[in-house]
Amino acid sequence: MFDNIHEECGVFGIYADKKCDVAAQTYVGLYALQHRGQESCGIVVNDDGLFNYYKDLGLVNQVFDKDRLQALGEGNMAIGHVRYSTTGSCNASNAQPLVVRHGKGPLAIAHNGNLTNARELRMQYENKGMIFHTTNDTEVISYVITEERLACGSIEKAVEQMMYRVKGAYSLVIMSPQKLIAARDPEGFRPLSLGKLGESWVVSSETCAFDSIGAKFVRDLKPGEIVVIDDSGVRSIETHCGSKGHICVFEYVYFARPDSVIEGSSVHKARLRAGKYLWREHPVDADIVIGVPDSGLDAALGFSQESGIPYGIGFIKNRYIGRTFIQPTQAERTNSVKIKLNAISSTVKGKRVVMIDDSIVRGTTSARIVNLLREAGATEVHVRISSPAFVAPCYFGTDIDSKENLIACNMTNEEICRHIGADSLGYLSVESVKKLAGKSDCDFCVGCFNEQYPIEVPAEMPKDKFEYRISDSK
Ligand code: SF4
Repeated sequence: MFDNIHEECGVFGIYADKKCDVAAQTYVGLYALQHRGQESCGIVVNDDGLFNYYKDLGLVNQVFDKDRLQALGEGNMAIGHVRYSTTGSCNASNAQPLVVRHGKGPLAIAHNGNLTNARELRMQYENKGMIFHTTNDTEVISYVITEERLACGSIEKAVEQMMYRVKGAYSLVIMSPQKLIAARDPEGFRPLSLGKLGESWVVSSETCAFDSIGAKFVRDLKPGEIVVIDDSGVRSIETHCGSKGHICVFEYVYFARPDSVIEGSSVHKARLRAGKYLWREHPVDADIVIGVPDSGLDAALGFSQESGIPYGIGFIKNRYIGRTFIQPTQAERTNSVKIKLNAISSTVKGKRVVMIDDSIVRGTTSARIVNLLREAGATEVHVRISSPAFVAPCYFGTDIDSKENLIACNMTNEEICRHIGADSLGYLSVESVKKLAGKSDCDFCVGCFNEQYPIEVPAEMPKDKFEYRISDSK
């Protein structure tokens, strides 16, 4: 029934003080969030209650050219979305934002995260005769909000009521004819920040989008908070606040851009810390430290700074192709690693190399990358991973797979080391990964690393939910 409800996405919204080119600002914001999803994107502009929108498969600069942006026209509000899925499950009907037309007025929703009770809710609606047009759980949210809106009248009250009924991870940007609403689930699994651009308000999955449009960061939404922006200003509803939250720690390790600041902690500095802790936990004699682009680079620098082993650029990455984990078959993944990454022989030849990467999922890519270094002349390759080993799936919007596809569930550390052809292998500990975001006042979800999830998860992960895979993803 659901072919692709797991996704790692980016959301953006703007409420301008006057009618202006909000589509262009949203375009620039989405461009900065492109790393969070490369399969489809969309923008909805609100021009005095009239919603103009366009969404399609492709990167932001492929979907939107000058004419398309102009066709969206001016408005005083806009929301946008970038979405990640696989080639196989990717279709234009699942592109967001989702636009709902209803007697109570139109509604546009952009969602990052994954509900854990979407299946039950959807079955309830389907059994009542409702018809779904997509296979994503955002449509379930839209049904719940619309139903609650009929009961209580106001959109923000409907969002508040919706949060009693949907479970799981959601950072939402919602637009009604008069209001821009941002909401974060009570655990705050995914980031969501509020910013200001002159007299306009902006919300974004990551602060790097604020920088790209010249907006100033104001604050992160609290876990469980609803922020409502309309012509009377900004107000907050905190009915669902109270928990310190459990933000996904993998945002710091891998998902977020290093120039973003999440929950008060720089992602770049978090990755430096990962490298520092890796050295303390898994020291090794070596001549050079290199990182696997992109998210291994900062951790490699941290490892180098802490160990005194020189830092080097060991790989060159072809930046003009998409992430390899969108390729559906094993063979394609193997080939695309070769296409995307090449070792720099002058850096590694004749050297004992420490190679830092963010994760190992099935080991295919790691084996390939280690081999690239050997072919380039490295005498030893010591692999260090800036996160703990994946031992369980993710239910909160990330496509970390069921156990049978996670190498650490099927092999010992030594076996994995041999499998990928490394001389030694070390993962960051769960204790250390929780310390990466030094300034954050929140707790962290580390469920895929220790199976201790912050909220109840479904008894079984339906296999059909996983048409795509995280990582092996350089
Ligand atoms: S299970 Fe892992 S990937 Fe999923 S939210 Fe928790 S830490 Fe993040």
